[in-house]
Amino acid sequence: MSVNLERIKNDIHELAEIGRCRDDRGIYRMAFTDADMEGKRWLKDRIEHAGFEPRTDGAVNVSAELSGATDQARILVGSHIDTVPCAGALDGTLGVIVALECLRCLREQGVVPERTIELIAFSDEEGRFGGMFGSQAVCGQLNPDVLATLSDLDGVLLGDELRRHGFDPLGALDAARDPETIASYLELHIEQGPVLDRGQKSVGIVDEITGLFTWSVSLKGEANHAGTTPMEMRHDAFMGLADFASAIPRILDENGSARSRATIGKAQILPGAANTVPGIVEFSLDVRDTSPETLADLGNAFRKALSAIARRRNLMFEFQQKSYLPPVAADPAIVKRLLRQAERLELTHLQMHSGAAHDAQIMGSMVPVGMIFVPSKNGQSHSPAEWTAWTDIEAGANLMLHSLMDLANG
Ligand SMILES: [Zn+2]
Repeated sequence: MSVNLERIKNDIHELAEIGRCRDDRGIYRMAFTDADMEGKRWLKDRIEHAGFEPRTDGAVNVSAELSGATDQARILVGSHIDTVPCAGALDGTLGVIVALECLRCLREQGVVPERTIELIAFSDEEGRFGGMFGSQAVCGQLNPDVLATLSDLDGVLLGDELRRHGFDPLGALDAARDPETIASYLELHIEQGPVLDRGQKSVGIVDEITGLFTWSVSLKGEANHAGTTPMEMRHDAFMGLADFASAIPRILDENGSARSRATIGKAQILPGAANTVPGIVEFSLDVRDTSPETLADLGNAFRKALSAIARRRNLMFEFQQKSYLPPVAADPAIVKRLLRQAERLELTHLQMHSGAAHDAQIMGSMVPVGMIFVPSKNGQSHSPAEWTAWTDIEAGANLMLHSLMDLANG
């Protein structure tokens, strides 16, 4: 039994047109925007078309199930279809489409697995509202206070966005599942790094997923005239950010590991005039590592650095932790099964860790998880250049299909 690559291609191309910007060719399906909701409607249509019944839970996760012969705990398989701004066609989307194709294949072949297999597309994986919203809802990690206060980097409240689409924000609490009902969660995802592509492997089998925290930081000084304010009398907020950014390599060297990463991906200078000394800068900080201790050390080091820079430049600083995800290990028994299936299907493969965060990380706090990676061409992702060879997509999808059967019958 094998997947139908033509159907996968068709689905990828169709979904890639939803939220596509004509100017930069990027896809803009950020969580709970109109384009994201249109993507969810498209998915429900495809699910119906395949003869399954689409469901939407209180966190606006979309799912569908192939009923098993028994009422044993089920296998969940999926990913997400929301995107970062100016995204490519495969991040998250590929895992959802492959899961749908697996369900279609099994139904066509008349396979009735022992355990129910459920496809799930999680909401806001990419982090408009902190990230992993849908999988956190399924794992019961949300509460009414979080739901009332979550906002995006522009200050838009999650609750307002949900209400705009006709959902009660508190409904997300109802998406929580009983861990006893889920045997395991599988996710196929693009690697988003260069390791498989460089090593010419078709699939990766993930044994460990990196953890991360993101901060929203502001440095406050004093806005003033760019001509009349002497250099030594300024409280220039942007110069504070410049000092901080240039301290990052040293902070990682002294407090991090070879797997540590830190990124300032968004910054705003206020009031934002060419002839005014910046009074305020607001910026994001994203820090990752596979060890929880190292992450904590890095958090302390970044806080100390900000504090020292603020003192030196006569600035005030504030930061808010927008998200924290602990590192998670894949289930060793599932890793073993995935490796065995990859060998049986004679796929070139590699056991590796994931440097990106995924829904599997959240699910891993509740149930055993496994992840399959496929190569990212030139390691590129979060860009319209993101791509994976069709042959590798087919290999990954077949590995998922056979692994699902293995787990659903074992
Ligand atoms: Zn993703």
